[in-house]
Amino acid sequence: MTNILVVEDNFVNMELVVFLLESNGMEVTSAFDGWEALEILKDSCFDIILLDILLPGIDGMAVLKHIKENPALQHIPVVALTALAMQGDEQRLIGAGCIGYISKPIDISQFLTTVNFYLNKGINHANTQ
Ligand code: MN
Repeated sequence: MTNILVVEDNFVNMELVVFLLESNGMEVTSAFDGWEALEILKDSCFDIILLDILLPGIDGMAVLKHIKENPALQHIPVVALTALAMQGDEQRLIGAGCIGYISKPIDISQFLTTVNFYLNKGINHANTQ
C-alpha cells in the first residue's frame, strides 16, 4: 500500500486531498503544520510527501530543507502543494529539492494521475541516484 504524508493547514483542502487519495486505496497521514510533519517523520516512513508551502509557524520551504538535509528522509519524493502561481516558483521549489508541484485549487480530475506520476518519477529518481 502506498503511504502518503499530506502537510496542509487548510482544512477543506486537506479533506479533499485525503478523500481523493484514500478513495484510490492509499494510506494517508495528515499533518496540519510543519512541526507536526517533522514530528511524524521521526518515526514513520512514506512513499511520497505532499507539502503545502504556506504553513503557519515553520513553512513548507523550511520543512523541505529539514527533509532534504536528513539522510534518513532525503530519498522521499516531495511534491509541493502550492497556491503560489508566480513565475519562477516552480524552479525555486525544484531547486530546493521538490520533485514537482501541484497547484491549488486542486484539479480533481487530474490529481490522482499527477500523484501517481510523481510516485513513479520518485521511484525512478531514487534508482538512478
Ligand atoms: Mn497553507
